[in-house]
Amino acid sequence: MLKQIYSKTMTTVCNICGKEKQTDLSNITVKKNADFNEWDNLIIECDCGSAEVFNLNIPENDTDEPFMTGDLPLDEEIQRFYVRILQRIVREDFKRGK
Ligand SMILES: [Zn+2]
Repeated sequence: MLKQIYSKTMTTVCNICGKEKQTDLSNITVKKNADFNEWDNLIIECDCGSAEVFNLNIPENDTDEPFMTGDLPLDEEIQRFYVRILQRIVREDFKRGK
């Protein structure tokens, strides 16, 4: 899961072994897959061999989400909050200054 994003450094926690990993996002650019017309996933691999996949296709603004505050478990809402920040840092359209 995504634990923190601070100054373009992302901290994730492995769902399997619990180990924390820091990833510098400043050199990562996620491109759109033309075949699917979707942004590629960001995949973070852990030393234990597991990999966490972040879907960077969620609505850009929380007000565009198809559910209301409280509809999702709090953990899930927090994850989406972080993924929204993540999208804005690594997605090519945001990097271009959309
Ligand atoms: Zn692990």
